[in-house]
Amino acid sequence: MDFPLLPGSTIGILGGGQLGRMLTACAHRSGYRTISWIGHPDSGPAAQADQVIEEPFDDPDALQRFLEEADVATVEFENIPLSLLQQIEQALPLFPNARAIEISQHREREKSFLRESGIPCADFWVIDSLEALEDALQELPERGGILKTAEFGYDGKGQLRVAGDENATDLWEQFAGQRAVLEEFVGLETEVSVLVARAQDGTIEVYDPAENLHRNHILDVSIVPARIDESYLEQSRDIAVKVAESLDYVGILAVEFFITQRGRVLVNEMAPRPHNSGHHTIEACASSQFEQQLRAITGLPLGSPRLLSPAVMMNLLGDVWPETGQPAWPELLSTPGTTLHLYGKQEARVGRKMGHATTLLAAADEADSVIALQRSTLGIEV
Ligand code: AMP
Repeated sequence: MDFPLLPGSTIGILGGGQLGRMLTACAHRSGYRTISWIGHPDSGPAAQADQVIEEPFDDPDALQRFLEEADVATVEFENIPLSLLQQIEQALPLFPNARAIEISQHREREKSFLRESGIPCADFWVIDSLEALEDALQELPERGGILKTAEFGYDGKGQLRVAGDENATDLWEQFAGQRAVLEEFVGLETEVSVLVARAQDGTIEVYDPAENLHRNHILDVSIVPARIDESYLEQSRDIAVKVAESLDYVGILAVEFFITQRGRVLVNEMAPRPHNSGHHTIEACASSQFEQQLRAITGLPLGSPRLLSPAVMMNLLGDVWPETGQPAWPELLSTPGTTLHLYGKQEARVGRKMGHATTLLAAADEADSVIALQRSTLGIEV
């Protein structure tokens, strides 16, 4: 494959969610085509792709079609079967590489990679048996820990807070004997995330860290720039670059951090794709996270991550939909500088990410009042 891939080329996207939809919008703007392999029959967010493959990820004819149509492949969702990623990688350029995705899709591999690469993260114990769990519970510090399944965990799913004095057999049964990681519970000062774009020639661009607020373990609001000390900003940016380089990463990578009350900057997890906490980059940065993804995987020069304006991004979960009709969009949009994004999902379920709203601010200290206003407009109780 000759790089750069020029407009008219086709981007193959694995996964069928909003991240792929926003990548498609960006690709279309610059004259690229997309084929989205979504692996299920509900094409809602992916419907804007030029072609959609609904067949499951183990369908050989679907693979054939994907490989024939796409000039380059990427993921918008990390839990794509590894064997498929490896097959694709043999036939097409895949960015990021399958190993980087493999590491990020599995908490145990991710944490082990961080530890082996000398990248700071919360202390953890690999739990692969009842005995391992019993031993780890003994070693937990006073604050206790969080038991997390090794696979397919996101948005707090598959997690259990433990004090350390529980009956190990009961816990092990609750986890149905699945491999897990027991992580020390850290006192959080705040959480931030850093987006890094890395090009095929190793060039790197780093975005300003976003400050992230969660509700029910799901990202609720991101504020940029993060309202933390300069030294934390610098450390998190440097660590995110180190993660990208250690993975020989190409594309956009999100690294989530814990800033602890004791001043530690620890990697929580990484996502090998555009990230929810980077949606503000569409309106607030010179080049968005989707633009960077497009440029990195097609071999074009990276764009600028420069922040043009402070911004706040609020997720719109299915929770804010009334039983009939829609949320109060006109009122929401009456805050100057607000853009509404909806992902084309038909059914508004509790906890389901339906869209987001980004508001450009005159200064980051306006964030709290804008968030309060928007929450009250949408009927979100704090
Ligand atoms: P995760 O799915 O691992 O990102 O966890 C979801 C959320 O749970 C994080 O964003 C934190 O707010 C919280 N959390 C997870 N792990 C820890 C930890 N070791 N100590 C304190 N809070 C945590």
